[in-house]
Amino acid sequence: MTDTTGKINLLGLTQAKLEAFFEELGEKRFRAGQVMKWIHHFGVDNFDDMTNVGKALRDKLKACAEIRGPEVVSEDISKDGTRKWVVRVASGSCVETVYIPQNGRGTLCVSSQAGCALDCSFCSTGKQGFNSDLTAAEIIGQVWIANKSFGTVPAKVDRAITNVVMMGMGEPLLNFDNVVDAMTLMMDDLGYGISKRKVTLSTSGVVPMIEKLGQVTDVALALSLHAPNDELRNQLVPLNKKYPLSVLLPACNAYIAGLGEKRFLTIEYTLLKDVNDQPEHARQMIELLRETPCKINLIPFNPFPYSGYERPSNNAIRRFQDLLHNAGYNVTVRTTRGEDIDAACGQLVGQVMDRTRRSERYIAVRQLADEQAGVTVPTNRR
Ligand code: SF4
Repeated sequence: MTDTTGKINLLGLTQAKLEAFFEELGEKRFRAGQVMKWIHHFGVDNFDDMTNVGKALRDKLKACAEIRGPEVVSEDISKDGTRKWVVRVASGSCVETVYIPQNGRGTLCVSSQAGCALDCSFCSTGKQGFNSDLTAAEIIGQVWIANKSFGTVPAKVDRAITNVVMMGMGEPLLNFDNVVDAMTLMMDDLGYGISKRKVTLSTSGVVPMIEKLGQVTDVALALSLHAPNDELRNQLVPLNKKYPLSVLLPACNAYIAGLGEKRFLTIEYTLLKDVNDQPEHARQMIELLRETPCKINLIPFNPFPYSGYERPSNNAIRRFQDLLHNAGYNVTVRTTRGEDIDAACGQLVGQVMDRTRRSERYIAVRQLADEQAGVTVPTNRR
């Protein structure tokens, strides 16, 4: 929790941890609630602005603590309202946060790691390798920065951010504790007050951590599936060799079983021409997901140099979607947005995340926002 300044960063502390912090200082626990409101509701990072905190305590806090989000390298706003921040974290790497407004909702896509160790074959973020885990302050700091930029704080009537998806850079379940703390703050009324149904964690399938997640939270879950059988998934998502579908799907089913009647798993499936887009793959998927209440997001691949993959034809995409749809699945295919700011920042973030991968995330994030807007029991529930 301390950094190079030797001070504790209060930004990433959950209510329980902040209460413990004040107790250690010899102060009352209720101070945590006061300070959290200043930080998260009002976007304050200066203790002297906390007018209901006495001067003696403010001085005490200044001596041992700070409120510090990641450094904002750039903020861009698209014609269609999409916003994108590039922020620098303590390791020196940059990560990206994307906001997508649509139909009265605002979905924020948040990163959990700089780089990624999992090396999915179609993802250039993975090819860059792993750089660092983000701290809880760096994760919630992305929400804090976005929230402040809308200027709606402290009037929490028209919230700009209604949904959060942990779908930015990195595998969130490999940075478990920090991600859980940050999600706790997203849902806390003293934090951002976002419904647990509207906070989604997206994973490529770290099975033990899915089980552990179910023990500590009940946020929505998305699975980056990308292949309907082990042989193919081993190639596309190497983590599958460790946690094959025979253990992954039961872990996901067990997780969503704990979410109540109307909950479901979101399936993300990047369509790669002649690799995983054939009718046989759709049929395998229909069988694979038979026992899983789910909604399926199809994400046509956006080619990038040396990826070795191509985007399927529109006919192939439609054929794949129709097969799933006719089997009773709720399935969507979307196109990207925010292209103008994508282009504007492509070079800068090229070091940490290429445009293609970002575009895929925009698509997936928007689909998730659609689903969270109307939470219904999927038609494939049996
Ligand atoms: S797709 Fe996700 S899990 Fe796989 S390498 Fe890319 S960022 Fe990591």
